[in-house]
Amino acid sequence: MKSPNDFLAHIPPSIFAVMSTLANEHGAINLGQGFPDTDGPQWIRDVAAQALIDGPNQYAPDRGVPALRQAVAEHNKRFYGLDIDPDREVVVTSGASEALLDCFMGLLNPGDEVIVLEPFFDIYVPQIKAAGGIAKFVRLEAPDWTLDEATLRAAFSGKTKLLVLNSPMNPAGKVFKQEELDIIARLLIEFDAYALCDEVYEHLTFDDHSHIPLMTLPGMRERCARIGSAGKTFSLTGWKIGYITAAPGMLNTIANAHQIVTFASPPALQIAVAQGLQADTSYFEGLAKGMNEGRRLLTDGLKKIGFDVLPCEGTYFLTADFAPLGFNGDDVEFCTWLTKEAKVTAIPMSAFYAEENGAPPRSLTRFCFAKKTEILEEALERLNSFFSKNRITAHA
Ligand code: PMP
Ligand code: GLN
Repeated sequence: MKSPNDFLAHIPPSIFAVMSTLANEHGAINLGQGFPDTDGPQWIRDVAAQALIDGPNQYAPDRGVPALRQAVAEHNKRFYGLDIDPDREVVVTSGASEALLDCFMGLLNPGDEVIVLEPFFDIYVPQIKAAGGIAKFVRLEAPDWTLDEATLRAAFSGKTKLLVLNSPMNPAGKVFKQEELDIIARLLIEFDAYALCDEVYEHLTFDDHSHIPLMTLPGMRERCARIGSAGKTFSLTGWKIGYITAAPGMLNTIANAHQIVTFASPPALQIAVAQGLQADTSYFEGLAKGMNEGRRLLTDGLKKIGFDVLPCEGTYFLTADFAPLGFNGDDVEFCTWLTKEAKVTAIPMSAFYAEENGAPPRSLTRFCFAKKTEILEEALERLNSFFSKNRITAHA
């Protein structure tokens, strides 16, 4: 028999599914896969429940229900001063995951080059390849993951079509600074390229770090597609409602991709997300404030145990270096061992690096702090008691 698609036959299983399964098998506290353990606002869920009863329950308009497109446009205006036409510049998708694929499909021709900053959210590279693009990597280095202009410039060529910018950045927890965005904007203009801005953690920044959409910089309005996710903004990751904002010159082909991928997303969820996006500004500010407690707790706790905890400016995630603990093995072995023996699960950071771009760091782990205080305390207690018995001599 002829074989099915060669490329898809060889993509590895999702690290999130692998680690969540392992966590379940071993009764571990799952600080791996990024999802909050407290559902988002009841009132948004009530709107969705009522909309399921009242309808409409048939296909929504392909670009999204008008109320949600309007709410996305207003959200862009309220938080970033962007003037967006809800009819021509917004498409609603089934999660940011679909939005990303639609953008790659809608923007790339076979052989186009796409710059990806490493470490990256795992689905970017297989999606780029599936859409016929060629990923070019720029590695950012821990602990502060600073973007260096010369390194970025070296990755651009006449074939560069797109740069993927994930800010706040999963898994690194970095929020890109104005100077870094300026560098990106300059190069996009010089090389006549677009940016795909994955901003699903736009409302999850901490301390004095604030999120600046690349789209707000001079010359960037026509070159950026900005992606948001109701899953992240309303702590409802299972809902899978995403939204893309872009000028028609970019959006029309992206919308055509959406048309052949899902065509339309569930109307009841769209109606509820439309209401959510109109919430008082205090809701959006409160989201990060709520998560900040978990960030502090986990940072302090992991440091006390002996991890070297890297700065976290945004997202749900902390990066911790286990090198000081003296473990004799790589990050995959460490996370497996931690799950089985200490009953706490984290994600090995090497999963967010491309094999073809050289050896990844091997002593970094990603912990999700979007969890209840008592769960984080229990996880720290488990780690504490485990490492007090197993310090340095750990693992064979
Ligand atoms: N981009 C990033 C950086 C993410 O962390 C996620 C996580 N889910 C997604 C996109 C996908 O979002 P969604 O669940 O809305 O598909
Ligand atoms: N975005 C989530 C994370 O980074 C997981 C998404 C998924 O499970 N596919 O952990």
